[in-house]
Amino acid sequence: MGKGKIYDMHCHASQLNREEMEGIIKENITIVGVSEDIESLRKTIEISHLYQGNIIVCAGLHPWKVKDGYTSQAEYIIKEVEKRDLGCIGEVGLDKRFLQSNTYEKQREVFMKFVRLAKDLDILINIHSPNAWNEVLNMLIENDVKRAMFHWYTGPVSLMEKIAENNYAISLNVALMLNKKHVDIVKASPKEHIVFESDAPYVYHGVRLSPLMIRSFVPFISKVKGIPENEIVELSLKKSSFLLKSN
Ligand SMILES: [Zn+2]
Repeated sequence: MGKGKIYDMHCHASQLNREEMEGIIKENITIVGVSEDIESLRKTIEISHLYQGNIIVCAGLHPWKVKDGYTSQAEYIIKEVEKRDLGCIGEVGLDKRFLQSNTYEKQREVFMKFVRLAKDLDILINIHSPNAWNEVLNMLIENDVKRAMFHWYTGPVSLMEKIAENNYAISLNVALMLNKKHVDIVKASPKEHIVFESDAPYVYHGVRLSPLMIRSFVPFISKVKGIPENEIVELSLKKSSFLLKSN
């Protein structure tokens, strides 16, 4: 019997090569393909045609790409989400760790547009929020967003309860296996609200992250949390399906 389907909820598919894609599909991994700007969105759409049913396309303007001409770019991307009925926004968000404080206002302005879009269309918003965890959570709640995930969550353990209360998802990145410091996040994460991701092909501490790592991430989580593997998989599938409205 083949392996059961599993999701990689945050992956930059436009940056993966053909060989990698074939391997991922063989492993029965469905990719939620985030994009960062107009160019990467075009590429992600192209790839999704090659691997139909295996890539879900998300469109967004990454906080790192909020530069000259950002308003018209954001508007264009929003129209693409509507026109193509994409069902997923991202990668968008607020970054208070890697970016300077003089960019916060513009970042917030762009992110707000996507938060409203997520609310209006009732679709998933795939969020980048280093050191802005609490602020982002409050924006989601205030704007009554239903389907949201905190990509590569490394925020405070104490905030997880509020994230769960609002039925948002905590996305655990496979890199959490590589850093003992982060085992507390895996331990404390509420099991009904976790999903998995690779953020491939991001290089973390010298390791090129890959969706394929999700297959070994499941036993790791199972061990840390003391919950059977099949239960972990089932719960994450349920949460992913809710986010993607695919059940
Ligand atoms: Zn990313």
